[in-house]
Amino acid sequence: GGGQLGRMLALAAARLGMKTHIYCPDPQSPAFDVTPLKTVAAYDDEGALALFANDVDVITYEFENVPLATAEFLARLKPLRPGATALGVAQDRLAEKAFLTINRIPVAPFAMIGTSESLAAELKEIGLPAVLKTTRLGYDGKGQRIIRKRAAAAAAFAELAPKPLVLEGFIPFEKEISVVVARGVGGDTAAFEPAENVHRDHILKTSTVPARITGRTAARAIDIAARIATALDYVGVLGVEFFVLKGGKLLVNEIAPRVHNSGHWTEAVCVTDQFEQHIRAVCGWPLGDPTRLADVVMENLIGDEIGAIPARLGPGARPQAYGKAESRAGRKMGHINRIGAKTPAK
Ligand code: AMP
Repeated sequence: GGGQLGRMLALAAARLGMKTHIYCPDPQSPAFDVTPLKTVAAYDDEGALALFANDVDVITYEFENVPLATAEFLARLKPLRPGATALGVAQDRLAEKAFLTINRIPVAPFAMIGTSESLAAELKEIGLPAVLKTTRLGYDGKGQRIIRKRAAAAAAFAELAPKPLVLEGFIPFEKEISVVVARGVGGDTAAFEPAENVHRDHILKTSTVPARITGRTAARAIDIAARIATALDYVGVLGVEFFVLKGGKLLVNEIAPRVHNSGHWTEAVCVTDQFEQHIRAVCGWPLGDPTRLADVVMENLIGDEIGAIPARLGPGARPQAYGKAESRAGRKMGHINRIGAKTPAK
């Protein structure tokens, strides 16, 4: 994948003396600016995939919507880390929730929805409000409808069907946090501290570290993230998003089998950042030290906000622009880390 995550992974790999080969169908991909080797081809072009696999030592992915068949094809040719199993679980909300539940990791109440009638029945079980989501290809709030009244259910179903759907209970969370954890080839794990995340229009706006949670909640979140990585026999960096309820109870909202937007703060204030950590893990190197050296707030620059970078570079500010050719509303264009920024008062 050639998005901003691939770009930042390629930069981290270059610092370690490695050469990346980025494979992406979109010739305008941000990662192409910073990689010595590239292939522009479709994800189902087996000839191009085979040539690509032949050229590299290890393969990873930077977004979870790489087709599973592509991942499985490549995994037969070269080590694929994380593996195709993690990708299969993470790219389907229902598979993900089932996997987490089987591993006794708490999630919001959920049910598979196949028909308008099953939606009406499950709304009775799960209660209102509830969130109807497509099981696949949803991100940044796309493919979701909140149902607040029973009468609105049929319309929500009609808007999202015939795609496979999952209904979730609406969680009245106090805050959202995430943990980025790494697992090495030998099964060792290293987690970054939890970040406290604020979304705007369903898109991550800020990640603040330290998060305003107790040490016990932080330790439990890190433990859950490491358990998920181990249960998936995962190699690489994994993002785990949580809802924090009143009293500190945690529910896992979503997992991402890749470096994560809510881990961008690590590049400014950690001994090893998430990008280097992922490269180390997938190459079989020892994991790096995730220790945080300063407080930090990461702010995403969305759409035209990217133009404001020069005006917003106060003390402690570290900008990162993704070099995207075109700014569109809702598109992540870059971010700024503010080092030493104090956690905003509640
Ligand atoms: P998702 O794409 O599932 O991560 O959802 C994007 C955002 O929508 C989350 O980060 C939450 O802020 C909100 N959200 C999603 N699902 C729920 C839920 N079941 N209850 C409350 N808020 C939710």
